[in-house]
Formats: sequence, C-alpha cells, structure tokens
Amino acid sequence: MRSNTAHSGVVRTRFAPSPTGRLHLGHVLAAQVAHDLARREGGGFLLRHEDIDGTRVREEYYAGIEEDLRWLGLAWDGPALRQSTRIAAYEGALERLRAMGLVYPCYCTRREIQDEVGAMVAAPQGPEGPLYPGTCRGLPGEEQQRKLAGAATHAWRLDARKASELTGPLSFTDLRRGTLAVDPCLLGDVVLARRDIGTAYHLAVVVDDAYQEISHVTRGEDLLPSTHVHRLLQVLLGLPEPVYLHHRLVLDAQGRRLAKRHDALAIAALRQAGMSATEVLALLEVGDLRD
Ligand code: GLU
Ligand code: ZN
Repeated sequence: MRSNTAHSGVVRTRFAPSPTGRLHLGHVLAAQVAHDLARREGGGFLLRHEDIDGTRVREEYYAGIEEDLRWLGLAWDGPALRQSTRIAAYEGALERLRAMGLVYPCYCTRREIQDEVGAMVAAPQGPEGPLYPGTCRGLPGEEQQRKLAGAATHAWRLDARKASELTGPLSFTDLRRGTLAVDPCLLGDVVLARRDIGTAYHLAVVVDDAYQEISHVTRGEDLLPSTHVHRLLQVLLGLPEPVYLHHRLVLDAQGRRLAKRHDALAIAALRQAGMSATEVLALLEVGDLRD
C-alpha cells in the first residue's frame, strides 16, 4: 500500500488541548515544544480544541486556554479549529474504513469487557492494561444483524490485524528516538467511533492532523503507543506521514504526571500568585526540544 513520505518543506505544528479545564504546566510544555519547533523553522503553529466529548467540555475553557496561551506569549496562527465542527469528516473516514472491511461494530459495555478479561487465563495486555479481547470481531453475519437490531448503540472498532495485513510493515520517525517500527496491535482493536459520540480520539487526530497539514506532531511521550495506531490509520486513509516528537512529561514531586488534582499548578493560578510568564516558562526548562 502506498505510503506518503514524511514531510519535507513547510513546518507546521499544533497544540491540541481538550477544553475540559485550564492549562497547567504539563500543557504548557506541550504548547511550548510545538510553538518553538515551528518558530525556529519559520513555520506555522496552530491551535486545535479537541472537544469531541461534549459531556466534559465547558464553554469557558476555550477562552481560558486561549487567554493562558496569549499570556505566555505562545501565539498561534489563524483561527483555532474545533473538532466538534469536523464530525462529518470523521464519519467520512470511518465510512472509508468500513467499505474496506477494516472496522466492525462492538456491542460490549465496559463492564462486559472487564468481566470477559477477568475470566480469561491470559488476557491480551497493552502498555496501559488489558486490551479489548476481540469479542465482537468476526461475529457471523446473522448474529451481527441480530445484535445490530437489538442494541440501541454500538461502537466501531478497528480490526488491527486485518488492517496491518493490508498495509504491510510500517514505521514512523520520532525526533528523539529515530525510526520506530509500528506494532499495529499494540493497543489492540481500538475504538474509532464511540457509542456515545460517534467518533473517537484516534480517528479525529489523524484526520485533523492531515486537514491542518501538520508536518510535525509534537506531544507527550504518554501518547507514543497511540502513534502506532495513528500511522496505521494514516496509511489506510491515504494521509501524509508527519514527523513525530514525543516529549518528556512534566511530573509532580512524587513523579506523577500532572492532572486535574494539580489545580495549584494551573497557569491561571500561578499568574494570580504573581508569577510572570517568563518565570512560568522558566519552570519547564525546555531547552533543547530533543531532551
Ligand atoms: N488532546 C490530547 C491531549 O490533550 C492531545 C492529542 C495529541 O496531541 O495528539 O492530551
Ligand atoms: Zn464488543
């Protein structure tokens, strides 16, 4: 299968927060890495609000995030993209994969998956815990029809093995780690369309990175496993291959990654406490992006 080569030419990066809270230091590192890489190369730096999960999004956070970025001096180019306006594009991509026979409906509830995994002697494991055991993969046509009629909603999952048989071996380039071989089944048969919102992170990211012509995808190294799936999806959907930079994470004093419980480290809180933008950025010691 044809694979577009990694970008050469105009550098374009993006920062892609979810408007489910204010920015904290972890986000700022991600934003600064993307910003600095683009500006260093005279390229573009874009902002994308990852707001497909409407139940967690709050309207005031879009403006709050933008205010924090402006205050930090991390200005972006052009209007911010909202993923909630791009649902038709994600549906189109899913439809393509469906036509290729590479996705299947999954009727399992979270609970059913947990129970099934718990009952298995050797449940398949991924980097973040047990993987979906493939319950709904390869259901006979009539059983699928019966379930489709009976269930109010269902998710769509990627048949990762079948997809990788189609693409053959793949790799991606990370600026810190060099060339890495794709393990297409690393995260198992990931959900490409959630039952509640009709799309999902992996699909939306891949479609939008291509739409926004992102040459360099920079993000925390916690998302490195996802890149294996994203590379597979890019090839299946005929999308260009970006270069990756998975940067280190900002950890608290206990070595845990920052999360909602660290509201004291929200940029707005640091600012209110009297810190300047320069002082906040200095906390991160970004330095060489490849560190
Ligand atoms: N929205 C994701 C996050 O906030 C980032 C997605 C990405 O960079 O691919 O962690
Ligand atoms: Zn299932």
